[in-house]
Amino acid sequence: MSEAKPNPFESALKQLDIAAERLKLDPGIHGILRQPKRIVTISVPVRMDNGQTKTFTGFRVQYNDARGPYKGGIRYHPNVTLDEVKALSAWMTWKCSVADIPFGGAKGGIICDPKKMSQGELERMTRRYTTGIADIIGPDRDVPAPDVYTNAQVMAWILDTYSQLKGVMVPGVVTGKPISLGGSLGRDTATGRGAAFCTREAAKVKGTTLKGATFAVQGFGNAGANYALILEEMGAKLIAASDSKGGVLNRRGLDAKKVLQHKEKSGLVVGYSGAEEVTNEELLETECEILCPAALENAITKDIARKVKAKIVTEAANGPTTPEADKVLDQNKVFLIPDILANSGGVIVSYLEWVQNLDRLSWSEEEVNSKLERKITTAFKGVHGQSAESAVSMRTAALMVGVGRVAEAIRTLGLWP
Ligand code: GLU
Repeated sequence: MSEAKPNPFESALKQLDIAAERLKLDPGIHGILRQPKRIVTISVPVRMDNGQTKTFTGFRVQYNDARGPYKGGIRYHPNVTLDEVKALSAWMTWKCSVADIPFGGAKGGIICDPKKMSQGELERMTRRYTTGIADIIGPDRDVPAPDVYTNAQVMAWILDTYSQLKGVMVPGVVTGKPISLGGSLGRDTATGRGAAFCTREAAKVKGTTLKGATFAVQGFGNAGANYALILEEMGAKLIAASDSKGGVLNRRGLDAKKVLQHKEKSGLVVGYSGAEEVTNEELLETECEILCPAALENAITKDIARKVKAKIVTEAANGPTTPEADKVLDQNKVFLIPDILANSGGVIVSYLEWVQNLDRLSWSEEEVNSKLERKITTAFKGVHGQSAESAVSMRTAALMVGVGRVAEAIRTLGLWP
């Protein structure tokens, strides 16, 4: 029997409770942090191409803004639930705090299957959803960004809808925009690049090198594919890659760029020549030095964790490891780079994009990448230092840093009225 997948918000609360205990958090502040500040549910009626009206459900959850405006992506996926969005918004809060950027945390989602929708339908759905959240977003309020199955074009529609409603162009209302609309160079590759920098730091800590290190990537979307390309540039060897329909494996090495080209052409990783087919589960359990879950929550369950052979796990996805699986990986001495650190490159460059928009600046890609490198390696070192000091896993250490800073902000702000 396959294991039941935990509710992501319950997992997020379990993690928070562990950090709260370690930090000896004030129970009042702990209570504040166990609930999102605001939950918005929006009905999104859309005129479909066949003339009929279909009503979707969308969410925006604003978890906490003690450290700055809410920040977080919008996900389009058939399995979106309110509890998933709540969990993702809590993780965004800790993530921005670990990265030490002046944002709180939020997340949005629409229950839909974008793969079965036309561009026109996606545009109308995005614009209608934006009208529903227009009053609660803005450069100083809440700044959305891309997430699973949303991209720069979706951000452009949000930007246009919001700006039309306000009667003035407001580029800073979203990040991950097209470059032509004030997007930042380096934003599209930032999540993968940040995860690669973290992996490089983890290898240093473990006294090994990325040269020739074998790695497997589950999920070949924006985060996973860019991670593969960049880690390959750093000298590591991609041996397995997958997407939602399955994966491919070749112990002698795959060529990340060619796998990506194949996926862009056929829509699938499977079918890539010169490799054997594997399931997603087989990929996670494959013999390799570095494993990168870059798809969705709950990929690594307790049963799978027992069979993970990688020495380093880089969580490019949000919430890919269940709390039970976490314990197993920890017992097995796997060096896990937790999501709120490993995938923070995306929101770090979102922050750089927002700063450029507010200051009317435009930085080169090299400048952006080096700022990202500095910011994420500092975050890595902070978390690793906390892990050594408190003798806890990297997961618990990251939560202690992230939750600790938010708690301190709440304490200093005080409660009013
Ligand atoms: N969706 C990304 C994440 O989960 C990026 C969020 C952002 O840039 O605001 O971190």
